[in-house]
Formats: sequence, C-alpha cells, structure tokens
Amino acid sequence: NADIAMYRAKNKGKDNYQFYASEMNIHTIERLAFEARLRKALERREFVVYYQPKISLTTGKIVGAEALVRWSHPEQGILYPNDFIMLAEEAGLIGRMGMLVLDIVCKDILSFRQIDGQFGRIAINLSGSQFNDHQLLEEIRSVIDFWRVPPSAIEFEITESMVMHNREQAMVLMDGFKDAGFSLSIDDFGTGYSSLSYLKRFPVDSVKIDRSFIKDIPADPNDTAIVQAIIVMAHTLGLKVIAEGVDAADQLVSLTNFSCDEYQGFYFSKAVPVKEFLHLLQTQMTNAKSVLAH
Ligand code: C2E
Ligand code: MG
Ligand code: MG
Ligand code: MG
Repeated sequence: NADIAMYRAKNKGKDNYQFYASEMNIHTIERLAFEARLRKALERREFVVYYQPKISLTTGKIVGAEALVRWSHPEQGILYPNDFIMLAEEAGLIGRMGMLVLDIVCKDILSFRQIDGQFGRIAINLSGSQFNDHQLLEEIRSVIDFWRVPPSAIEFEITESMVMHNREQAMVLMDGFKDAGFSLSIDDFGTGYSSLSYLKRFPVDSVKIDRSFIKDIPADPNDTAIVQAIIVMAHTLGLKVIAEGVDAADQLVSLTNFSCDEYQGFYFSKAVPVKEFLHLLQTQMTNAKSVLAH
C-alpha cells in the first residue's frame, strides 16, 4: 500500500508542510500520479461492489442491502472508500465511478431477484458533486433502463450536509428522484446541520441513524435518549428508521424496544462480495421454504 500510505501521511501533515515548497511539489506529483492511476482503474473497471445486508427488526430477515464500492487493486488488493472517494471527487471522477457502481448494482439486482423475486431495495451512496450534477438523474435512468431494473428496486443515500448546502436546489433534485420512482434516505443522520424540522419538508423515505450514536447504547444515557427521540420523531413524520453500525446484541435489544425498523452492522454481517451476499439470500429462502413445509 505504498502510494496510498504516502498519500495519507501527506494529507495528515497538510497544514504543516504547505510552507515547504519542495514537499508541496512532491505532494502535487503524487496526487497527479494517483489521479492518473484512478482514471486508469475506471477504464479497466477495477471497482467492485460489496453488499452489507439490511435486516428487519421485526422479522430478522434480510430486506435489502447497501452497495459499498471497493477498489480491487491488482497489486494492493481491496481498497476501501476512505482511501479514494475524496480524491475521486476532487479529480472530478466520482460521477464516472458512480455510474460504474450503478451498472454493477443493476446487473446484481437481476441475480438477487432470481433467488427472491420480491427482493427489496439496494441502497447506493451519492456524494455531493454527483447529487449536484443536473445530468445525474438522466444518466441513472439510461443505466437502469438498459438493465430493465425498476426504480423501485433502488434507493439513494444522501447526507444532511448535501441537502443543507443548497436547500432550494436540493429540494428540486430530491423531488426529481421521488417522481422518477426511486427511494431516498438521509445517511449518517444526526451528524449534519439539519434538524427534525427540516426533515419534515424533505421528500425522503427513511433516515439512517449514524453509527456514532449507536456505538455506546444502551450504556450511554444521552446517546440512548437521542436514538429513541430520533426514532419517535421520524416515525411521527412517517419515515422509516435504520440504525447503522450495530455490532452488539444489547444495541439490538434497545433498538427493538424503541421500535426501530431496520439495522445494518457487523453484528449481522459486514459488507460482503456479491457471491457471498447471494449465498446469504439463498440460505434465507431455503430456510423460509423448510419452515413452510413443516
Ligand atoms: P456510509 O454510507 O456511512 O457506509 C457505512 C460504512 O460503515 C461502510 O464503510 C461500512 O462498511 C461501515 N460499517 C457498517 N457496519 C459497521 C459496523 O458495525 N461497525 C463499523 N465499525 N463499521 C461499519 P465503507 O464501506 O468503508 O464506506 C465508507 C463510506 O464511503 C460510506 O459511508 C459512504 O459514504 C462512502 N461510499 C461507499 N461506497 C460509495 C459509493 O459507491 N459512492 C459514493 N459516492 N460513496 C460511497
Ligand atoms: Mg451509506
Ligand atoms: Mg451511513
Ligand atoms: Mg456513517
């Protein structure tokens, strides 16, 4: 991971070394090299999508999944979004990466539906510059039409800051997604600058409570109160609530008591390659059938 590690190290020291012209040049050169490598990776389709199951808290079943991009680097192995998403965005490559992710997801949805014809939503993350691109919706439509995937099978995750950055425009964009038949959810809810009063006006279907609030429940009384309040208020507004980063049984008990709808997290499964996700779905279908047979 030499060039990645170098990029990270340089990024950390950003504030200090900008005074040293020579180091800044090294940084610039590395950055350009990294961008060129990223561009090549897009051409070679080195990106893959992992799926993290979303579990219903009422049935305990997989009801959907979040699509999470990984860079399958030929020398460095699987790289995670923290290592390249920001740079892709800065290099103006996030749009192309997003379309590649959507293309893979559409193809995979067809195989999920071969196992379970009613299989629910796949959630795709959007970043700010994608969301603000006026051609986005049209591009999305041409990809899903190509695969004949209905918009109802896809949900887009956007963050509060993406919406709050330019509320009027965001509202128009969100309406466009809803009118086209996609679902929308607010990702990392609670970490941005919006509030439940704004939430009321956003045309979204669900909120995902950020992992940082889930981490210490039920031990931390403040976080526990916040999580409960978000769930109650979101439900009052008619929104579905998903908890992210659930990795312990006692978190699950609290969330069940608070009537949270769905959860995601290492407790059930991390994000897995498509083959493994298909296997999880297959197992669930087989179990459902054997229950019916008895
Ligand atoms: P996110 O949308 O908030 O995704 C959830 C992240 O939390 C994922 O990290 C997931 O693996 C991780 N996670 C899930 N459950 C647990 C848990 O129980 N414990 C812990 N510690 N972590 C958990 P990942 O895959 O590294 O993704 C990081 C971020 O990268 C995502 O955050 C999302 O903002 C962004 N991202 C991922 N895929 C895409 C993509 O295709 N397009 C765009 N624009 N952004 C993406
Ligand atoms: Mg997300
Ligand atoms: Mg999230
Ligand atoms: Mg998060």
